Amino acid sequence: MSKIKVSELFYSIQGEGRFMGVPSVFLRTFGCNFTCDGFGMPRGEKSDERDIIAQHADQYTDYKSLPLVTTGCDSYASWDVRFKHLSPVVSINGIVDAILRMLPHGKWASEHLVITGGEPLLGWQRAYPDLLSHPDMVNLQELTFETNGTQKLESKFSEYLKTHWGKRWDKLTFSVSPKLSVSGETWDDAMEVCHSKNMVTISIDRCVFKKPAKEGSLLKIYGKLIKIGNTSATFNVEVRSYNVFKEEEAIILTTSITFVRIDDEGGPIPISEQVKRIFNSK
Ligand code: SF4
Repeated sequence: MSKIKVSELFYSIQGEGRFMGVPSVFLRTFGCNFTCDGFGMPRGEKSDERDIIAQHADQYTDYKSLPLVTTGCDSYASWDVRFKHLSPVVSINGIVDAILRMLPHGKWASEHLVITGGEPLLGWQRAYPDLLSHPDMVNLQELTFETNGTQKLESKFSEYLKTHWGKRWDKLTFSVSPKLSVSGETWDDAMEVCHSKNMVTISIDRCVFKKPAKEGSLLKIYGKLIKIGNTSATFNVEVRSYNVFKEEEAIILTTSITFVRIDDEGGPIPISEQVKRIFNSK
């Protein structure tokens, strides 16, 4: 039976993104490939807040008692090894039992599971099939991974998702938060798996405003890659307005945007063969 090093497991209301307002279980795994020490700092400087806290790391006995930081990564204890004693290794059965204890009906109903980190798509990908196919997890309806977007899906996990979630892709969300230069991470590291990182907008097609967006609505932006040229890629873009109280969604704007890949001097260069292969295999 697989195990996962768990920094936090708690029940709360999702405060952001597509599932804002939805009661959710958050599983925070240990480990991240970044440190994001630049958040909240003048450009080029690094936060030392977690280093100061780490001087007394042994005084903390649980994750909740840790001080909050105003600069750097706010979930530092989910990846900094100096705090790893706060993140027990828990068996899949142990995680599922703890989840059931925190669900209001003792089983999955309309709640949503958020697997977050640190970076949840590191080695724990190997454990997720065991977790998600546990008999007490089969009624889980909505699943989100909150990721920094640098990790590829491992083939076994990818196969598992295709087999078990392939008929309900709309219930599976990858909430990707790429780390920009303010994070302190380098562009090359943050965009590691993006094979065409220097893309600029070359044209935006006619924008069709279909409906007004009402104040207080959540705006969702969807993009679908529809064409790959030699140096360019075209996406259909759809903006939807979502009323979180009535759970109603409406398309309010459609357009298509074409990006061109450029080199460091700004000249167009071919889209990578790997991106073309991925697109053509769909
Ligand atoms: S990617 Fe996220 S969890 Fe990792 S260091 Fe950056 S902010 Fe923290």
